[in-house]
Amino acid sequence: MTEKNNEKIDILSLSFEELEEEILLLGEKKFRAKQIWQWLHVKRVRNFDKMSNLSAQFRDKLSNVFCIKSLIISKRLASNIDNTVKYLYELSDGNHIETVLMEYNHGYSLCVSTQVGCKMGCQFCASTIAGFKRNLEPSEILLQLYETERDSDIKVSSIVLMGIGEPLDNFENVTRFLEILSDKGGNNMSLRHVSLSTCGIVPKIYELADKNYGLTLSVSLHATNDVKRSEIMPVNNKYNINELIAACRYYLNKTGRRISFEYALIDGVNDSREQAEQLSRLLRGMQSHVNIIPVNKIKEREFTSDRKSAVRFRDMLIKLGVNATVRRTLGLDIDAACGQLRREYEI
Ligand code: SAH
Repeated sequence: MTEKNNEKIDILSLSFEELEEEILLLGEKKFRAKQIWQWLHVKRVRNFDKMSNLSAQFRDKLSNVFCIKSLIISKRLASNIDNTVKYLYELSDGNHIETVLMEYNHGYSLCVSTQVGCKMGCQFCASTIAGFKRNLEPSEILLQLYETERDSDIKVSSIVLMGIGEPLDNFENVTRFLEILSDKGGNNMSLRHVSLSTCGIVPKIYELADKNYGLTLSVSLHATNDVKRSEIMPVNNKYNINELIAACRYYLNKTGRRISFEYALIDGVNDSREQAEQLSRLLRGMQSHVNIIPVNKIKEREFTSDRKSAVRFRDMLIKLGVNATVRRTLGLDIDAACGQLRREYEI
């Protein structure tokens, strides 16, 4: 459960209740946990010495038992075409992940990674090319927010779990992250401002629905029949489209949150009228929204598309009664757009 670093407990990965238990085990009063929690998640100190309402002796004890993890900024790339900034972060074991800060009309959104690499093998995605290394700890997901806000001096208003990795393949750490992120006495971000994107790990969609966090579920659909989807997304061999759509309907019924479907449009692969019709049949009667993304270029693959095809496909969908928009592409010049993130360095 909690990762040990040099035998020390990773304190930023603990839920508030777990921190309380640890503090009681140290023979301290319960209210101390609240004070520490605020130092960590409200004031965001990176050192126990800064916790000035605790005795020096207690701070010493804390630093013997716990560690406060941090991320190192290896690279910071700012786009010249929009205000997107991409961070390459180094983790304490030398692995790297990417995080993207984006500006929208309503505020700033942060796209965070959930794994080092990815094992899902989607054909069009750069994040999976170098394979999978390991899951991120809750603290490492959270620190992408804390370090980016600190570095940029910007308050992030929404989070999308759409960086490197498959969030539902790291279910326990991701849900723990969500609970820490939204804790009322701590960082206090409403999960209504969070979107989680999945390639379709069906049993975990059911589990997530039952947690009823109020977050938006984004589903990377990208194809409308099993033959095509299995060709470009191997996960479809395990959980097919009908099973996926049934899980989405369950999520919607359970949470009342409409599902957002991602559809990376690829010329000659998934952009035909027949596919638009199939899509409208699949989503019939379901409160949903389709986000069309002209497929972004990655150097290892030949897939192409452009905004014009995306607009054409969107218009076909709208005529068929499907709620669809073309998503704005941000950060293209710094490889920060959907599917372009990767773990650049290998240890
Ligand atoms: N593993 C999760 C989270 C990644 S989110 C998932 O699959 O949903 C990143 C989004 O970008 C996903 O919808 C993914 O399918 C999409 N994507 C990947 N490569 C892309 C590309 N080259 N162009 C456009 N979108 C892409």
